[in-house]
Amino acid sequence: MTRIPGGNPKNEMQTLLETSHPVDTSRQFPLPANLLIRIIWAVLLGVAATALPLILAGKWFPSALLMATEVVLFFGLMAARRKRAKLASWLVLMPLTGCVAILIVVGKGPVDEAVLTLPGLMIFASLFGNRRVYLTLLVFVALLLGAMGAAHFLGWWVLPLTKVRPDTFTTVFVILAITSYFVWVMARALHSTLVRLEIENKRVRNSLARIEVLAHHDSLTGLPNRALARDRFEHSAATAKRTQEGAALLYLDLDDFKAVNDSLGHAAGDALLRDVAARLAACVRSNDTVSRQGGDEFLIVLDGLATEDGAGAIAHKLVQELARPFSLNGLEITVTGSLGIALYPANGGDFETLLKNADLAMYQAKEAGRNAFHFFDEKMNANVAEHLHLVSAMRSALANNEFRLHYQPQFALADERIVGAEALIRWTHPELGPMAPAHFIPLAERSGLIFEIGAWVLQEACRQAKAWQLAGLNDLVIAVNVSPVQLRRDNLAGEVQKALLAADLAPRCISLELTESMLLADSQALRDTLDRIRALGLRISIDDFGTGYSSLSYLKRFDVERLKIDQSFVRRMTQDTNDEGIVRAIIQIASSLHLEAVAEGVEDRQTMARLAQMGCGYGQGYLWSPALPPEEFFRFVKDRA
Ligand code: C2E
Ligand code: MG
Ligand code: MG
Repeated sequence: MTRIPGGNPKNEMQTLLETSHPVDTSRQFPLPANLLIRIIWAVLLGVAATALPLILAGKWFPSALLMATEVVLFFGLMAARRKRAKLASWLVLMPLTGCVAILIVVGKGPVDEAVLTLPGLMIFASLFGNRRVYLTLLVFVALLLGAMGAAHFLGWWVLPLTKVRPDTFTTVFVILAITSYFVWVMARALHSTLVRLEIENKRVRNSLARIEVLAHHDSLTGLPNRALARDRFEHSAATAKRTQEGAALLYLDLDDFKAVNDSLGHAAGDALLRDVAARLAACVRSNDTVSRQGGDEFLIVLDGLATEDGAGAIAHKLVQELARPFSLNGLEITVTGSLGIALYPANGGDFETLLKNADLAMYQAKEAGRNAFHFFDEKMNANVAEHLHLVSAMRSALANNEFRLHYQPQFALADERIVGAEALIRWTHPELGPMAPAHFIPLAERSGLIFEIGAWVLQEACRQAKAWQLAGLNDLVIAVNVSPVQLRRDNLAGEVQKALLAADLAPRCISLELTESMLLADSQALRDTLDRIRALGLRISIDDFGTGYSSLSYLKRFDVERLKIDQSFVRRMTQDTNDEGIVRAIIQIASSLHLEAVAEGVEDRQTMARLAQMGCGYGQGYLWSPALPPEEFFRFVKDRA
């Protein structure tokens, strides 16, 4: 396969597609050079064989003539060897024609043996020469014979023959002319067939080259595709083995690319991918390869790495370059990327293993908060095995009804009245014991199990809320956490409705907790889902507010009711003035947008008092209670009533 330098995606594919092999139809010497060389060798030997008996017989003039011809022929041979076919054929034709002409004149004229050479010369001229060479030779022969005839009959030069008639000259010429014309026609036919064949051949080679380019490049971005990336990697790995250097495979996935596609349309998404491709390609050296894996995933092969830090430096550059805004349809768009790095040979000896490991490392980068890169380490493989076990354990937990919901009470800060509860999932693994939701929820999201788990949480929360209402706990709003993955699937509203109907519960009793980043996408599909949820009459809260992008425009657009101040700020606010400042700012935002502010993670009275003073309406935290099993929660509420 052709190796093409890594560089710019556009020129890589385009130059290859544009490079066609030109076909020169006016070529004069279609016969292969080695054929010409063989013919010249044969002529050299033939002339030598003719000269030898003459030398032995002591005929010095013809011998000297033939030897001089040999010398010129030798130069012809040199020219043919240097592929200078035109010069070579002149160097064959000229001395031979001259020599033959002289031999005819000094010999027996039109009936000399040397005349037999003329058809051979004409055949040669037809095959290796062009029309001019052929006609020149024909005219020369006609003139030679005409001149000899005229000289003979005018008595200027008497042939040493008795029976020479005028028609001897014309007959010899006519025979020569017809023979050579016949050869000319045949040679031309052969010539044009060869040229046509050559054109066809080139065309096939051009098409093959084009097919090869298309088969190894991504049509949207012009970048090499996975197959070519693998080839490049294998080449780099082979070189690395020899030079004792390394290579690296970088797996890049754009963060939230789907949001761009959903909100700006696929054409804009495509344009963004092209811009991303160009930007990535500009970041690497010419012997590195940036390829597109498909979708919003790119693979980068780094060639000849002397140190691990080299890969880190390039990954850092790539992440930084991506984070600069892109201009799309007049809008400034920011996309970030998460990168995983696997090193050759430390993290795997073949492409597939490195790809898998770079992919794992990329997920790690995503989990660490995105817009970052992560090196692969062996623990990740162990994690994969552990994750697979956990996913199958969750599956059986669902089937065996092992998940539980605990409820953490929420309070109005003014009078410490219980206004509701947040439903928090709890799971005790049969062997590993209690598991934190922060541990298993991300796995459920990745494996798709979150749809079933989320549906169960909704149904269970609604069922419990109804049961408490019937038991006399009125006016409690139960907050249910919704994963971004659930929100992206457009049947969330349907699931909610089903759960409400099954429990016969009023929608106002449920509040859905979404995280900020979910709403940023601002896609039509998301808007439709949220509109349907709002139309049902549910409340919407923004969970962990302050940790995401904090773009305020969506708060109004999506008709949010509550902001939950992230517990990381609340817990530290009495010790850290920055955190206190953030909490104050969030409370002010909530108040100016007429939203309720709920502080999470209230652990002491001092914090509670400060929050109340700042104007925060609600709180939840260990100050009052952790999340409780339903029966305990019921007792907790009853005891405080
Ligand atoms: P979250 O929605 O922000 O939930 C609040 C977390 O803070 C809960 O952790 C809660 O137990 C904890 N917490 C409450 N008060 C305090 C406090 O005073 N101090 C401290 N240090 N922590 C406090 P938990 O139950 O471990 O849940 C963690 C996260 O897991 C939740 O964060 C939520 O994002 C997710 N999660 C929990 N249950 C579900 C669920 O049913 N569905 C989904 N999709 N996610 C859930
Ligand atoms: Mg929550
Ligand atoms: Mg939270």
